[in-house]
Order: sequence, then structure tokens, then C-alpha cells
Amino acid sequence: MSELVVEDLHAVVGDTPILHGVTLTVRSGEVHAVMGPNGSGKSTLSNVLMGRPGYRATSGSATLDGVDLLALPTWERARAGLFLASQYPTEVPGVFVTDVLAAAYEASGRDPSLVPARMAEEADAIGFGRDFADRALNVDLSGGEQKRNETLQLAVLEPRIAILDELDSGLDVDALRAVSRRLEAATDGPAPLGILAITHYSRLLQELHPDVVHIFAGGRILETGGPELVDRLEAEGYAAWDA
Ligand code: ADP
Ligand code: MG
Repeated sequence: MSELVVEDLHAVVGDTPILHGVTLTVRSGEVHAVMGPNGSGKSTLSNVLMGRPGYRATSGSATLDGVDLLALPTWERARAGLFLASQYPTEVPGVFVTDVLAAAYEASGRDPSLVPARMAEEADAIGFGRDFADRALNVDLSGGEQKRNETLQLAVLEPRIAILDELDSGLDVDALRAVSRRLEAATDGPAPLGILAITHYSRLLQELHPDVVHIFAGGRILETGGPELVDRLEAEGYAAWDA
């Protein structure tokens, strides 16, 4: 069992304070939804946890199975079992998904020769053309293709905890269903995935069922509860939280 523990995390982007004390714990097999309005700091939270340059924690802590994530470079956070499906995946011309995944397998002591077959299997599972494997990372992919590409990488890498930053944006109904089902399946089984799903729509959550819902605004969590918070949000909007 794994757990991502975030405690009273404060962070700045450049010099601007954006996160004002975020506390949450995501365990293996759990799906947590973080729902909040635009500009509230959701992507900042994901970027700080993954160690994206320009996003800096100023106090508080974030650990994965006791490992201090904030002290590590991004690739070591990944090796510790954290994965981020970014809201805006970076285009990396000349670098191929297959090679990135093979390098990640190698870094974690797994056999990189397994990667092509795993990729083909996972592409089929989410209705993604196998030829995408041979393209440069996120280059010339539509928004929806980038999101499926992120999902494919996640499925092949089998992280312990995955942060999904608006994975639903750009996906059509069928792709959204296929992706959600694949993720839901990953939360079951012998090494279940823990998911922190950032979204401002409930669409994703109709297939990927959250155990815990956090209402997030102004760089902090305003309320944590169960799936009923999604219904309340749909009915009343963020105004219900004075956000
Ligand atoms: P959300 O994902 O909830 O829409 P973000 O975390 O992207 O919100 O943004 C929170 C605030 O931080 C916004 O005011 C945004 O303009 C600012 N911000 C985020 N990333 C950057 C950046 N790289 N440079 C400057 N400002 C940023
Ligand atoms: Mg965002």
C-alpha cells in the first residue's frame, strides 16, 4: 500500500503565493477529486508536487511512502512512484514515447524490452492508434490525443499515485469513457493505483468514481467530503462555498 501525504503545503509561482496550506492524503486504490474554479491553483498544486520548474513550495510537506518529494528532482519523484498527467503536456520534438517509457523502465529496474508490447496492449485498451507510439512526444497531437497519450504512459508505467490535471479536457465522450474505465480498472487489483483527479466538470467522475471530493478555491481546500459534494457543486456552483 502506498500513500501520498500532503501537509499544510504553501507554494509560490515566481514570487506570487498561490497555495495557502493544502492538506490531503491519497492512498492506493482511492480516487480523490479536486474540484475548483479557474485560476484557483489546482495546476499549481500538481506542478509543485511533481517539481515543475518555477513552482516552489515555501512550507509544509509532501511525501510518498515517507519519501520527501519536495527534496527530489522530478525524475526521482517519478521513480518514487508519482505520475503527473499534465493539463498542458509538453511537446518534445525528436523524443519518442517508446524511448521515454523504456528509459523509465530501465531507471526503475524493469525490463525495457517489455515496453513496446505493453504500449500496444494499452493503446488498444483506450482505442488509441498504435502508430502514435512512433511519434515524437505530444508533437502534432490534438488535445484529446495528448490526453490519451498521457493515459497510455500512465498505464504502461504503473505508478503508485497519479495526478490527473484536467485529463477530461479535450476528450470526446467515447475517449473519456475508455480512459476513465482504464483508470478505474487501475485502482483495482494487486497493486492498486491511487488517483488525485483535478477537474472542474463532473463528466470524468461519472465513470471514474471518486471516494473523496475536495472543493478547492483560492489555493486551499474549503471542504472535503464524499461524492455528494459533486452533486452539490452541479446544483449550486462554487458560490455554495463562497468561493
Ligand atoms: P487552475 O489550474 O486552478 O486554473 P493555476 O494553478 O493554473 O490554476 O493558476 C493559479 C494562479 O497562478 C493563476 O493566477 C495563474 O495565473 C498563476 N500561475 C500559474 N502558473 C503560472 C506561471 N507559470 N507563471 C505565472 N503565473 C502562473
Ligand atoms: Mg489548471
